[in-house]
Amino acid sequence: MTTAAVIGGGFGGLALAIRLQAAGVQTTLIEKRDKLGGRAYVYEQDGFTFDAGPTVITDPSALEELFDISGRKLEDYVELRPVAPLYRLHWEDGFSFDYTQDSEGLEAQIAKKSPGDVEGYRKFYQYSEEVFREGYLKLGHVPFLNFWSMVRAAPQLMMLQSFRSVYGRVSDFIKDPHLRQAFSFHTLLVGGDPFKTSSIYALIHALERKWGVFFPKGGTGALVAGMGRLFEDLGGTIRLGDPVSAIEADGDQVKSVTTQSGWHGEFDAIASNADIVHTYGKLLGKSDRGPTRARQLTGMRFSNSLFVAYFGLKKRHDNVAHHSILFGPRYRELISEIFSGPALPDDFSLYLHRATATDPELAPEGCDGFYVLSPVPNLGKAEIDWSVVGPQYRDKIFRYLEEHYLPGLTEDLVTHRIFTPDDFVTELNAHLGSAFSLEPVLTQSAYFRTHNRDDKIGNLYFVGAGTHPGAGIPGVVGSAKATAGLMLEDFGLDRSNAPKAAKGAA
Ligand SMILES: Cc1cc2nc3c(=O)[nH]c(=O)nc-3n(C[C@H](O)[C@H](O)[C@H](O)COP(=O)(O)OP(=O)(O)OC[C@H]3O[C@@H](n4cnc5c(N)ncnc54)[C@H](O)[C@@H]3O)c2cc1C
Repeated sequence: MTTAAVIGGGFGGLALAIRLQAAGVQTTLIEKRDKLGGRAYVYEQDGFTFDAGPTVITDPSALEELFDISGRKLEDYVELRPVAPLYRLHWEDGFSFDYTQDSEGLEAQIAKKSPGDVEGYRKFYQYSEEVFREGYLKLGHVPFLNFWSMVRAAPQLMMLQSFRSVYGRVSDFIKDPHLRQAFSFHTLLVGGDPFKTSSIYALIHALERKWGVFFPKGGTGALVAGMGRLFEDLGGTIRLGDPVSAIEADGDQVKSVTTQSGWHGEFDAIASNADIVHTYGKLLGKSDRGPTRARQLTGMRFSNSLFVAYFGLKKRHDNVAHHSILFGPRYRELISEIFSGPALPDDFSLYLHRATATDPELAPEGCDGFYVLSPVPNLGKAEIDWSVVGPQYRDKIFRYLEEHYLPGLTEDLVTHRIFTPDDFVTELNAHLGSAFSLEPVLTQSAYFRTHNRDDKIGNLYFVGAGTHPGAGIPGVVGSAKATAGLMLEDFGLDRSNAPKAAKGAA
């Protein structure tokens, strides 16, 4: 029987492992931490359940497909609940905007704020739908293995002005400064600077309008657990709490992995969901290929990091939506400092997650569980001693929240913890503490991103945020589809569920 190892149990690794196992490949998933999920880890603390990372679950069809190809039903493993509004946006001048899924709701609010922008919004939505069809439905899950695959896709991408930035394109259609922010901030959720990220990412708007936003009962961790259960039900093997310390290569083939505990396994193919620099530089450090490729990758631009504070309050704030974006006083300048440094900006814009808005069972009765996230420079852009600055930054954010959105926060605080850029390195092996791997700019997209199969080592594969199409759950689940397609083809197995490679791909 054909065998494969998947290193790392993030959404991408799990989705790939499910696809391989469902296709009859005996698959072993090896995860460093004591739980699956990667960035979607879960903290249980003082009766609160805190999802560590992704909470905005979009494109449920990509998740359903994993269960469908396995002959199962997603709803037998996890319940996805719709969230409305999708986001509530707040500015310090008191303006707020409910980002809803329906045209009527959106247009009524746009008309109230800036009547001249309604028509422009409609045109933007049309544009967003076009890039969604081209960039997501057609190309979001196909591997780009050679330059010609990129050249073939280029005319359409040029026609859609993919060389422009998301903010630039939004500004073509919408004039009001608040609304420009409302329709451009989304790239920040996948590690992209809206002023530099290709306008292809404007597709996120159409994607959210099409399917909405969901939150699993039990939190994102329940979705991860459901995927882990599905993989084991199919006969897959999971090793937790045992980081891979080396991938052994022999010329242009990888043969086996060794873990920190000394466990050793031989496989026909190996796929890494771990950080790309970590995989080439450390795990393949003794091979000919590893150090060279790691050096190339470290010359690329990595996305920003995040500071996250998880906290529980002994009171509920039912006026606070599930997903709130709290814009600070600056937008363009703040984003520039987050992506370029050279220091931690004084001000911030925040994402506030109130999980208990949709699932009160994630906290003790009468309590509210939150996390607040602030995009910050990665460790290569600003020298910050997070062991000192972290607690101070948390207190500053708590004071801000107390003053603007959550009165009584300090007094009602019953539990809290933080996750800093340093933790991205120690917990997740993330290069420079980047939260989303390679920055999603055009020159680092598709063919220019890490290939789903290594160019030289024929049975070494990659999946997850560092590969095409990039970060975010739909992105990494799409990358798993691309990688699984290649692997099954290489194994000579049935890949009827797999996508065709981008035209011109090897
Ligand atoms: C705070 C936060 C909030 C986010 N919010 C959203 C959101 O709301 N919606 C959304 O769609 N996306 C969101 N994202 C982005 C999304 O979470 C990520 O892009 C995605 O989950 C990354 O998945 P991945 O498959 O690349 O793997 P990762 O989650 O990065 O997992 C990689 C795994 O590899 C493991 N690993 C590393 N080294 C080794 C080793 N040597 N041996 C074994 N295992 C190893 C790690 O422990 C980890 O489990 C968020 C990200 C963060 C950080």
